[in-house]
Amino acid sequence: MKKIFHLGLFLSLLLNACTPAEQTAEQAPSQPNILFIMTDDHARQAISSYGSQLIETPHIDRIVKEGVRFTNSFVTNSICAPSRAVLLTGKYSHFNGLRDNRDEFDSGQQTFPKLLQQAGYSTAVVGKWHLKTHPTGFDYWDVLVGQGNYYNPTMVRMGDTLGHTGYTTEIITDLALDVLEKRDTTKPFCLLYHHKAPHRNWMPNLKDLPTVLKKEYPLPATLFDTYEGRQAAKEQDMRIEDMFMSSDMKLLPEDYGEETGTGGGGAANFRAPGNWERLREQLTEEQRKIWDENYDPIRKAFRENPPTGKDLIIWKYQRYMQDYLGSVASVDENIGRVLAYLDENGLAENTIVVYTSDQGFYLGEHGWYDKRFMYEESFSMPLAIRYPAAVKGEQVNDELVMNLDFAPTFLDYAGVEKPQDMQGESLRPILEGVAGTDWRKSVYYHYYEYPHGWHSVKRHEGVRDARYKLIHFYHDIDNWELYDLATDSLEVNNLADDPAHAATRTRLEKELDRLRGYYKVPENNTGDMSN
Ligand code: CA
Repeated sequence: MKKIFHLGLFLSLLLNACTPAEQTAEQAPSQPNILFIMTDDHARQAISSYGSQLIETPHIDRIVKEGVRFTNSFVTNSICAPSRAVLLTGKYSHFNGLRDNRDEFDSGQQTFPKLLQQAGYSTAVVGKWHLKTHPTGFDYWDVLVGQGNYYNPTMVRMGDTLGHTGYTTEIITDLALDVLEKRDTTKPFCLLYHHKAPHRNWMPNLKDLPTVLKKEYPLPATLFDTYEGRQAAKEQDMRIEDMFMSSDMKLLPEDYGEETGTGGGGAANFRAPGNWERLREQLTEEQRKIWDENYDPIRKAFRENPPTGKDLIIWKYQRYMQDYLGSVASVDENIGRVLAYLDENGLAENTIVVYTSDQGFYLGEHGWYDKRFMYEESFSMPLAIRYPAAVKGEQVNDELVMNLDFAPTFLDYAGVEKPQDMQGESLRPILEGVAGTDWRKSVYYHYYEYPHGWHSVKRHEGVRDARYKLIHFYHDIDNWELYDLATDSLEVNNLADDPAHAATRTRLEKELDRLRGYYKVPENNTGDMSN
């Protein structure tokens, strides 16, 4: 990359040159605070400033309005734990060692929180962690056990396991505000504020139930996709049609009889009949009373007039959307509480606020829920960054950026040189409007979790540029897919074998090879080595 001149960097060098020897507490804030807000499985289609027709998200929209919204922001591997490992290390899965959700994160490796700590930052993570090993590089950590529950979660605080009573999105926010309130004010802070929501099995906050359970949503254009020309898309197990009546739809056996959903395979406890009863039993008596008051009419209506065929798929879609979007509503409200805290404590100006999700999600597109595929809905992540001290608001940017870029960006703003082995690029030139024309023109993707785990999405790698996407599905198939996103934004028309697009395919195959070399992807990199 071309060296890019930063006014901010120049000024901080000048400041350091003028004040030799020790760094005083008053100078520390020249390193901006960092508030990194990440949700789990929050699709762009569920953010109003990304054009959502489904929900209003005024607080996330505020970050967008006062900062930069990215329209081409992607993950390197669209699944929870691998995305988190990329965030921390700035390295692809084949470098950080975490290819799929079965792998443990090697917590001894270099991460950006460790480097920020060394640079004088106070670091903390609160909420979802999901990396199996305990957090390292944080002065304070308080994280959910595994995926965490929507209500009454168990969390581990600096090694101590603690139970909580209440709604998890609110609890995580309370804990994050506590971190801010008790912070060491002589240091800049970096707080990772990570929600569990809106991860499956979507349970809204009690106070939102009366509103969200009455809503009906428009059907996506590809809800009844037939997957022509797309074998991997056809052979997955993540269709709304196959969602569990119990865990997903939250019905009881007397409502639906025998469980018919396949639910994506995966963990035995989630697919077991009676899973929903188990989760419901974990609510307190008071919570369960309110829950039942709101869901009992849905159960009654289903029992009295059970939908079938396409009507059942539409019914499941609506139930899915109600619970998913209800979970998002609380996330948005709670982000508002944290933004208000920054305002009230004079922190808004000098704090970089990032809003993102560990990846996107399907909200009925292709008939699906879940993620994993390199198609736009799950390959994309929402991304907005606000930093009033140096970044103009109301910007929309269409450069190709990745979750690989977070670590280098934070190090750049902290005045720490990017380590040689970190693979992303700092977003600072883009944020500050000084990026040259040499920003990356394509992104590389690789998904590994097959045939193990959930949802039967075949292993694949691919390349996307500003217009086209080439995907290679492998392992037990050998299929190529090519999409022209300018004419086929729904990605239903596979052009890989279309002679009219042969030159484009050849060009992208070469680009895929180039990226494999650039990112030092091993020859035998298929995911098997982590089995
Ligand atoms: Ca996720």
